[in-house]
Amino acid sequence: MDLENNLAKVNNEAESSVNSSDAENPATEALPAEKHKRRKKLWLQICNITLIPILLMGILFICIGLYSLRLSAVKETLTTLRGASILTAEHFSSINGLYHMNHGELYCGDIRMNDELPFLENEKRAFGIELSVFYGNNRVMTTVTDESGKRQLGTVLADNRIVTEVFKGNIVSTEKNIIGNEPYLCVYVPIYNKDKVVGMVGSALFLKNFYRMNRIFYIEIAILTIVTALITFLLITVLSRKIVKRLIVIREYMEELVRKQTADQRMDPLAFSRNDEIADLATHAVSAGNSIKNVMGTDPLTGLYNRRAGRQRLIKLWEESHKNYNVFSVVIGDLDHFKNVNDKYGHDMGDTVLTKISEILKRNCKENDFAVRWGGEEFLLGFCMAREDTCEVLKNISKEIKREAFFVEEGVIFHMSITFGVATFAGQEKIDDLITIADRNLYKGKNSGRDCIIS
Ligand code: GH3
Ligand code: MG
Ligand code: MG
Repeated sequence: MDLENNLAKVNNEAESSVNSSDAENPATEALPAEKHKRRKKLWLQICNITLIPILLMGILFICIGLYSLRLSAVKETLTTLRGASILTAEHFSSINGLYHMNHGELYCGDIRMNDELPFLENEKRAFGIELSVFYGNNRVMTTVTDESGKRQLGTVLADNRIVTEVFKGNIVSTEKNIIGNEPYLCVYVPIYNKDKVVGMVGSALFLKNFYRMNRIFYIEIAILTIVTALITFLLITVLSRKIVKRLIVIREYMEELVRKQTADQRMDPLAFSRNDEIADLATHAVSAGNSIKNVMGTDPLTGLYNRRAGRQRLIKLWEESHKNYNVFSVVIGDLDHFKNVNDKYGHDMGDTVLTKISEILKRNCKENDFAVRWGGEEFLLGFCMAREDTCEVLKNISKEIKREAFFVEEGVIFHMSITFGVATFAGQEKIDDLITIADRNLYKGKNSGRDCIIS
């Protein structure tokens, strides 16, 4: 509702402000092609402004997403590896006896541990991981095989820090451990002879397999981010297009204003479609337009319409009267012996007289009547009434003017009078005809002694 009022108010102001000539200024008139180019530029600018941050945001989201996905996947895998190592170590500790090496093979008491290899193979199948058992730092049992299928026995852990930590009784997880030139995710758990650590169980996942298993999630995250970025971009594009459209409406209003300098153009209601800064801008544009139009159509000394705006006003009155079969009168008034005022009392006093008389004229104009400063001390009046009524009003004006005393100095005052020529529109006359008739009647009045109304 506020917006509607706003719009009605600003457009009414435009209506009531004076019209200027519709002379066009080709220098400021934007050609359609030029307009289109500018529109495109603004459009591109908004796309650039939105696209770059969205792209950067998308890249950032992909990086953060992939990084956190990798972190949680590594954590989850290490938990699985840890579970498998602990399970194996606990299984081994359930066997009675002490671990020792005999002819290059691991024994627990009398039991040959290589017989437990199927247990490791089962775990390998269940979790998709590799398992090894170390005596000291020596790999004595393992599911890891080379390309020819040969088990990787007899190798040692290259990273001494891991071995040291495990032999202190700690479980060690590592994200990148090299086994046979290939990187693995590993977890090592100690195995004991009573309280003494004598070896360790290690479980490992080939890093390439880890990435292969998680690849689908990486692709999903990337696709999701790209789709989200695209949707966001589309939304921003659609919304910014609306903003651009409203800005274009305001720009076109301003262009029209500069080009035509008339009060005819109206601000498209689209500019006020939301209660925001753009609507504010449109309100200010209309106010500025009205001020410009007022300044352009007003005589600075008297505040009456100037000749150009007066003519527009007359055209409007003629059109409305012609359409609605109304009568109206055009009057031209000219001050009598005004030159004497300038000559005797100075130009400033002449200006004072013009200002005072203009006030009297304005005061006597009702509703759609209007007063124009037509020339130096010549005024044009438009009255929406027939000859007789017009003459009555003119008589009052004449009286008021004559009553007005102009003070020059102590003991020196003077009075003015005015001569009027009237023309009345009866349905056929053109504007210029009416002006000519009023002018002719004024001339008659001057010739017949002035201070009279000739209709
Ligand atoms: P008449 O009764 O025949 O109309 O005689 P007049 O002296 O009024 O007519 P005339 O056309 O000889 O003089 C008009 C004067 O108005 C001449 C000009 O210097 C003066 N004038 C025109 N514009 C202004 C103005 O803005 N200020 C002042 N002070 N004088 C002006
Ligand atoms: Mg005069
Ligand atoms: Mg004159």
